[in-house]
Amino acid sequence: MTSSSTSSSRFPRISTHGVPRRCWCGEGITSFGSSTAENRYRRFYRCEIAKDRKSENHLFKWIDEALLDEIQRVDAKHERVAQGLSNFEEKVMTNVKSEIARLELEMSQKLKEKVNLEIARVEKEMKEKLKIATVGMVVAVAIIGIWTSLYV
Ligand SMILES: [Zn+2]
Repeated sequence: MTSSSTSSSRFPRISTHGVPRRCWCGEGITSFGSSTAENRYRRFYRCEIAKDRKSENHLFKWIDEALLDEIQRVDAKHERVAQGLSNFEEKVMTNVKSEIARLELEMSQKLKEKVNLEIARVEKEMKEKLKIATVGMVVAVAIIGIWTSLYV
């Protein structure tokens, strides 16, 4: 049949995903019920003018397949959203972890500074006390010296 090949080149078949809105010829879509023995009562979408132009290639799609397409599309979208969310969560967690690490480093550095400062303070204090003790000892020795020179 040459007529079908010429007509299909006039309206190249475009794959439709999900529920079709329009035929590729530009016409609207209506739904029909199949009357063939193998697909009895099965509903399908068909181009509105296709009934009058049976030789041309117009949109035809089973409604159950179209709905399945839609569900798969929604599923895929949901999957993408979920993936996007987990990527976002991962990013947030990475940021939080690096911030905690930064704070810990800062804290340990501050703590180290504080400890070093405290050690220096204690050292200084100890040296001063030691100096006083040394002076005290010197004074005591001197007193003993004076005392022995007086009474011995
Ligand atoms: Zn059409």
